[in-house]
Amino acid sequence: MKFIAVLLGLYLLATVGCSPGKTLPEGDPAAGEPVLEQPPPDEVPVEEAVPPEETVKEIEGLVRLADLNAGFIFDLKYATADNFVGKAVYPVAVAVLKKETAERLLQANTIFQADGYSIKIWDAYRPLSVQRLLWQAYPDSRYVINPDAIPTTAGWKARHNNGMAVDMTLVDANGNELLMPSGFDDFSEKGAPDYPGMSEEAHRNVQYLISVMESAGFRTPPNEWWHFSDVMGTPTPYLDIPLEAFLD
Ligand SMILES: [Zn+2]
Repeated sequence: MKFIAVLLGLYLLATVGCSPGKTLPEGDPAAGEPVLEQPPPDEVPVEEAVPPEETVKEIEGLVRLADLNAGFIFDLKYATADNFVGKAVYPVAVAVLKKETAERLLQANTIFQADGYSIKIWDAYRPLSVQRLLWQAYPDSRYVINPDAIPTTAGWKARHNNGMAVDMTLVDANGNELLMPSGFDDFSEKGAPDYPGMSEEAHRNVQYLISVMESAGFRTPPNEWWHFSDVMGTPTPYLDIPLEAFLD
């Protein structure tokens, strides 16, 4: 027993001597010292310390793309007669997107700009009342959404009508559009991103466009290479806020 007791004593000495020493920190409540839990009364709240973003026009989560200073080029076809309706259906040329979608588009443009290109926007948010005009002009659901056949209470998708889709192409440093499979709103087989009759240059350009847009969270449908939907965001209700509301 005495031998065991000696061994036990040696063991205890060894473990206490080798273990990393744990000392109580200063101000530890366990040490009986006071701990400051409330900030000083004169501290400025965080909300007031951040300046408001007054320069970005925002309505119902939609923002004006020109306010983002992202270097987008604008050519809003529906604000001109150069579209399939043959007349302007937008009273003003204002490009608007849902804020989160706009931020993703900005990411894509940063990538394009590093390669010497910029996004040229043909269409963005489209009010439901304008959607009705387009449907009346071209009632073909392969290319135009029927506003009376889309859900109004749930089951929304990323569309122009909630500012989560954009029609676009690319321009070079001189503002010249890159060769693509077709022009805007070409409702023929030429609008397909994989149209077999396109030139090698157009194929290369459209594949580049799609790959960068996909990396930023967008997808293009099989029949409109210029249309990109934001597939990262949660679809929100379709809106009928007139574009004029986004003017100053
Ligand atoms: Zn589109």
